[in-house]
Amino acid sequence: FDDRDGFIWMDGDLIPWRDATLHSLSHGLHYGSCVFEGERAYGGEVFAMTEHHERLKASAELMDFEIPYSVEEIDAATRKVLEVNDIGDGYVRPVAWRGSEMMGVSAQKNRIHLVIAAWDWPAYFSPDARLQGIRMTFGKYRRPDPATAPVHAKAAGLYMICTLCKHDAEKRGYNDALMLDWRGQIAEATGANVFLVQEGRLHTPTPDCFLDGITRRTVIGLAKDLGYEVIERAILPDELDKTDEIFITGTAVEVTPVAEIDDRKFKVGEITRSLVTAYDNLVNRRDGRTAHASIAAAE
Ligand code: PMP
Repeated sequence: FDDRDGFIWMDGDLIPWRDATLHSLSHGLHYGSCVFEGERAYGGEVFAMTEHHERLKASAELMDFEIPYSVEEIDAATRKVLEVNDIGDGYVRPVAWRGSEMMGVSAQKNRIHLVIAAWDWPAYFSPDARLQGIRMTFGKYRRPDPATAPVHAKAAGLYMICTLCKHDAEKRGYNDALMLDWRGQIAEATGANVFLVQEGRLHTPTPDCFLDGITRRTVIGLAKDLGYEVIERAILPDELDKTDEIFITGTAVEVTPVAEIDDRKFKVGEITRSLVTAYDNLVNRRDGRTAHASIAAAE
């Protein structure tokens, strides 16, 4: 992935893709002082771009550092990266980390770097493939308690848990893992939030120890507009037995139905299908609304 043509924005400049390197003694690499975002462009425009960059700044603050660019500057740099790389449908990855000036647990004065890269990423699943639903299993590790880590930061260190759970799931033949939290409640997938449909209502875990996804909030708004009741609450895994439909939401997976969790099977039902379509229409600007309006409708 490091050996290809294109340009990456690094600390204020657009530089050739292959030259966008960092020093091996970076604090971000050794001690996890690193935050990032995952964004998606549809027809050359990032969906919910400002929301992503506000979260990037907020994640850095939770990790005790400040990204030396404003949200507006990060928005403008992102537009430039899409333009120079000629990206229509693509993925955008900003990442910020502490540099290499001082080596040690404390590195308060180390420079904060910011990189923004983007690459083509056409629809991941065809609509038919997506509607088959994915197969999940329970995660090998749990999401930590908010007293243990800054759980609302999109921080690289927290992804250690996600990668270990996802690898374990893949090695056992599943697509993804459903992680519980430290209390044993259902939390989220390894890169997405989760919704359950029970008796025609949507239920989703309260995001008190994991990322309150931008897609999650968007989908709550879309569901309410479609007239569905959405309940945020604590959900125990036993409840999967009385769940009719289940789906995950995230920038990368969009709205993806879940067909199986271990030996439990779920239908890809009408409510899931209607939200797959509504989300697709929204991000591709076919319903005349913005992400902002849909997120506002969730509140
Ligand atoms: N949880 C985790 C662990 C994630 O990595 C993501 C993807 N960023 C999400 C939830 C969903 O967040 P969003 O909808 O903002 O992409």
